[in-house]
Amino acid sequence: MSRFLNDSLKDLTVYTPGEQPKEREYVKLNTNESPFPPSPYALRLCRLAAAQMQLYSDPECRDLKAAAAEEFGIEKDEVIFTNGSDEALWFAFAAFCDKKSGAAFPDITYGFYKVFADLYGVPATEIPLKSDFSLDADDYVGINKTVFIANPNAPTGMAISVSDIEKIVESNPKNVVVVDEAYVDFGGETAVPLIKKYDNLLVVRTFSKSRSLAGARLGFAIGNRELISDLNRIKYSTNPYNVNRMTQAAGLGALCDAEYFRFCRDKIIENREYLAAKLKKLGFTLTDSRANFLFAKKEGVPGKDIYLKLKEKGVLVRHFDTPRLNGYVRITVGSREETDALLHALEEIL
Ligand code: PMP
Repeated sequence: MSRFLNDSLKDLTVYTPGEQPKEREYVKLNTNESPFPPSPYALRLCRLAAAQMQLYSDPECRDLKAAAAEEFGIEKDEVIFTNGSDEALWFAFAAFCDKKSGAAFPDITYGFYKVFADLYGVPATEIPLKSDFSLDADDYVGINKTVFIANPNAPTGMAISVSDIEKIVESNPKNVVVVDEAYVDFGGETAVPLIKKYDNLLVVRTFSKSRSLAGARLGFAIGNRELISDLNRIKYSTNPYNVNRMTQAAGLGALCDAEYFRFCRDKIIENREYLAAKLKKLGFTLTDSRANFLFAKKEGVPGKDIYLKLKEKGVLVRHFDTPRLNGYVRITVGSREETDALLHALEEIL
């Protein structure tokens, strides 16, 4: 850190992204990417767009908005596209949280919520999940803070019902409730239709998981047009061309290629069930994951040991060094070949 850094940033604990090692080839099951390449149509559009890289991208992402309006049954001004959904979450923190009202989210959830709260000096109330990692919607009823809920949650993969989401949204009319649906396509229930009924609901989604575009960085948020216009105030005050030309084209292709989307999603769900059954046979206990990863624990074996031994064998998974999570590893659902390589390595280790 230089001597010039703002005082307010000196104590900030920054987000630690999952490992992206280069030193050797790994079976990479640590950052919840898709094992499938992008849709061929997405790649074709992306290549065409690359030939016009000398031009700025469309700051309004009009083609993407039109496709999203059709796909999600919304109006074009009810969506904003962002540089990954991390940027949508950032915009939401910047737009809707302040020192007075604060933010609330579970104690175990996506780590970026706490980082953004700290970055903006927003008091964060971290509400403990129950001992089985389930979320009690009543903990958020009338809480009077900006609420952030990942549904399905990370790193547990556990989901809550849309009626629970509605209860939280309805009981906090003075605050925005942000529902982060990064993993919803793998078996969660979306809250998007509720945006027509509630002006305080913002649903954040990503192309990184179910649409195989993690490296392109494309996310979006859906909500009442006033909320979206608030997010645009942040976007147009920081980075109006936040989604580059190639990414807009790839996103459009991915949205339009419904058949490929369904094929990949269904395969990942099938592989998740296959992996879950095999892990149970090996003596692991699992949370009920509706995401593209499993959260697994083997009694008496620390998550870190499993992580390190797997890494030695060329398989990367994620573990978390916090008291409630250190028994677990989070394993991305890969292709069948990757899954079998993981299972083979685990059998040897155990
Ligand atoms: N929300 C959750 C719950 C996540 O796990 C992730 C992925 N790390 C994100 C948001 C951000 O994803 P991206 O920025 O790639 O869209």
